[in-house]
Amino acid sequence: MSKSVSHSSSKSLSRPFQYPSAAAPLSCGPHSLADLAVQYGTPLYVYSADQILERLALFQQSLAARPHLVCYAVKANSSLAILKLLAAHGAGFDIVSGGELQRVLTVAPEAAARVVFSGVGKTASEIDLALEANILAFNVESESELALLASRAAKRKRKARFALRVNPDVFAETHPYISTGLREHKFGIDIRQARSIYNEAAANRWLSAHGVSVHIGSQIRSADPFGAAMQRVARLVQQLAGDGIRIKSVDAGGGLGIDYHAASNFDPQAKVLEYTSALEAALTGLDVQLLLEPGRFLVAQAGALLARVLYVKRNGKKTFVVTDAATNDLIRPALYQAFHEIVPVSPRPGRASAVDVVGPVCETGDFFARDRKLKPLEPGDLVAILDAGAYGMVQSSNYNTRPRPAEVLLHGDKATLIRRRETIADLLAPELHDVTNRY
Ligand SMILES: *Cc1c(COP(=O)(O)O)cnc(C)c1O
Repeated sequence: MSKSVSHSSSKSLSRPFQYPSAAAPLSCGPHSLADLAVQYGTPLYVYSADQILERLALFQQSLAARPHLVCYAVKANSSLAILKLLAAHGAGFDIVSGGELQRVLTVAPEAAARVVFSGVGKTASEIDLALEANILAFNVESESELALLASRAAKRKRKARFALRVNPDVFAETHPYISTGLREHKFGIDIRQARSIYNEAAANRWLSAHGVSVHIGSQIRSADPFGAAMQRVARLVQQLAGDGIRIKSVDAGGGLGIDYHAASNFDPQAKVLEYTSALEAALTGLDVQLLLEPGRFLVAQAGALLARVLYVKRNGKKTFVVTDAATNDLIRPALYQAFHEIVPVSPRPGRASAVDVVGPVCETGDFFARDRKLKPLEPGDLVAILDAGAYGMVQSSNYNTRPRPAEVLLHGDKATLIRRRETIADLLAPELHDVTNRY
């Protein structure tokens, strides 16, 4: 792994989808995206396993001086094949539901010992499942959840390792829907109350205070708020040590952002170093394991959504490029006003002009780009919507009774179908329509 990192240019670390030469179509290593589109159809999610592993190694290597565990945030992309790949390379997992735990157990049961369970609304049955699997720790978000955890653990006579997810009251600049580290947000326990809760929990024989965790939001570009939050966590760990409670791990959460704009000089290796240095600086002198929960940073740039242009239509002054992918396949532009680069797979000569790239779904919010300067596109052309590996397929839906895309994982010179395209029969299968005798 270290070899591939040090030998890769920053450019390939940033994006695996490149034009090998000026005249050549877009590809991913030896793979032609045009060929993949023909073989598997469109819309199609394509992921580079090589890049995902490079990103994992960046974190693992920059933390080499301290006991650490990179717990991939499953919700960013929960594809079984990707979980299996990450587990095989030593990753742990951050889960937010019993369903995500079942995914991990399905592909890598031995990785249960590397699972942390986050989320504000864990149910009793989800807690039971995680106790049964003997996961590493529960990131507990409220006193009532801690009480439920204690009672489920007592029932099973199995000690539960927990970390309180503290809310450090740190401001992180990101989209308001994905900012979580302020007291006004629903997440975590006010850090000022955490110490007394740990002390109370120490009296319960079914609870074991394992760690302190924090997660301040998503798509955060600066390392500063992560460092500031970790400083507050470190202070709490020291206070607890004074109380006789020895914390074994601190969990910095996820949230490290990427650059969705191609023009920038985004250097993932430098970014990870800046981030882990900020965390390390806060932890100086503390003998704790460091857990990270990156999601987006590991998988976003490894993925592209391939779509075919169906129509190019002009309404007055506007030009619309209608693709066969839609907002049900990738909701980020509609939900977060997110920017995604869109590039033609085989660029045509000619001047770029401003177009809206939209899908067939019956919603004005069904767009991938507005007034975007793109090279000429014709019906039948392929486009790649870049940086779609995180919060893409996992947030897809069947709105408009659209079967979800297939997914392909590229690893070296191998291309593997990791999820077949849904059929209409798949979509209709859970439905019961024999209602005539009820009327
Ligand atoms: C969503 C989430 C993550 C991952 O966030 P990214 O921005 O994808 O890195 C990690 N931890 C928790 C608790 C989360 O809710």
